[in-house]
Amino acid sequence: MSVFEHIEFDQHEHVAFCHDKETGLKAIIAIHNTHLGASLGGCRMWPYSSDDEALNDVLRLSKGMTYKAAMAGLNQGGGKAVILGDPRKVKTVALMRAMGRFVDSLSGQYISAEDSGMSVADLKIMAEHSNHIAGIEAKYHVFGEQADGNPAPSTAYGVFVGLRTSVEFALGRDLQGVKVAIQGLGHVGMRLAEHLHKAGAILYVTDIYPETVEKAVSQFAAKAVSLNEIYDLDVDVFAPCAMGAILNPANITQIKAKVVAGAANNQLATEACGQLLREKGILYAPDYVINAGGIIDIYHQKIPSSHDAMKAHIERISTTLVEVYQRANELEQATNVVANQIAEERFTKKA
Ligand code: NAD
Repeated sequence: MSVFEHIEFDQHEHVAFCHDKETGLKAIIAIHNTHLGASLGGCRMWPYSSDDEALNDVLRLSKGMTYKAAMAGLNQGGGKAVILGDPRKVKTVALMRAMGRFVDSLSGQYISAEDSGMSVADLKIMAEHSNHIAGIEAKYHVFGEQADGNPAPSTAYGVFVGLRTSVEFALGRDLQGVKVAIQGLGHVGMRLAEHLHKAGAILYVTDIYPETVEKAVSQFAAKAVSLNEIYDLDVDVFAPCAMGAILNPANITQIKAKVVAGAANNQLATEACGQLLREKGILYAPDYVINAGGIIDIYHQKIPSSHDAMKAHIERISTTLVEVYQRANELEQATNVVANQIAEERFTKKA
């Protein structure tokens, strides 16, 4: 396996590999770009089938974080960490400590937060060995909830304001009576449903867990639909809040919504799907722009800040989306392509 020739390498500044003999920790930290500041990104633990799969994931994800941080207006670069192993089987306190030491060995060039397979409790153990761990402080209540470092409430709020702006831009109306289909009612999707319900939207929801769906039906007057029905409902907005790669050439032809705006990462099966959405007259909110509320929250946990300052920063997601939409219209290009262009302009700009 060649790292420098790797298809996802894309000028990464630093890729570090760790094998801790005592604990068995095998991990990779990738730092894509630190032009705007130290790299920030989650640490994921996953039972990768090969080292190459883990390398592929960490390189792709750290690059994505550079784009996300740039579009969120953060003085941060992009980085990511992966731990190779099944979190339900091989995660131990000793392993988390070893991971904390690995993060610390990079002297703050990589700041670690939470990702799949990791919890705030795991990060707190890592933080015993490094000051470069984020998303573990409960500085203030977040949108009425007791904060524990979990960024989901802020992600949901960012998606809500971004969705509202996208509806205004595409349909020229507010959310009263707007029909929204939400795919996935997890940490983000359920909170998004609550914001939308309060704003007067009419909700259609699906999830693989019936009890979750039932909660949205009883609390937010949502209408439950099946997993497959969610794509071709006669609604105004489709909000993907479950898994990635869910917008593909086949279901894009089914979608009747005029706006796609949701929390899920990597929603487009391929970059070309952005153009397909555009050709169908569907306004697509680039995922890493609209779902940046969580990373903005984590950033504000690391700097002297306040809830109001963090909230105002999250609300700037709207301004960024309008910039993307206007330029996409001017250039007659897909919104995902234009978002990448703006991000690159920001993180390559000379000081
Ligand atoms: P989560 O795991 O809490 O929720 C996901 C929900 O989707 C679960 O309820 C699950 O049952 C449901 N689901 C899974 N497959 C489904 C399917 N086929 N159809 C319908 N529902 C399905 O995750 P989350 O934290 O709410 O994150 C949701 C998405 O947003 C993910 O793609 C995540 O990467 C992304 N995201 C989350 C955050 C955050 O702060 N949590 C930040 C940025 C991006």
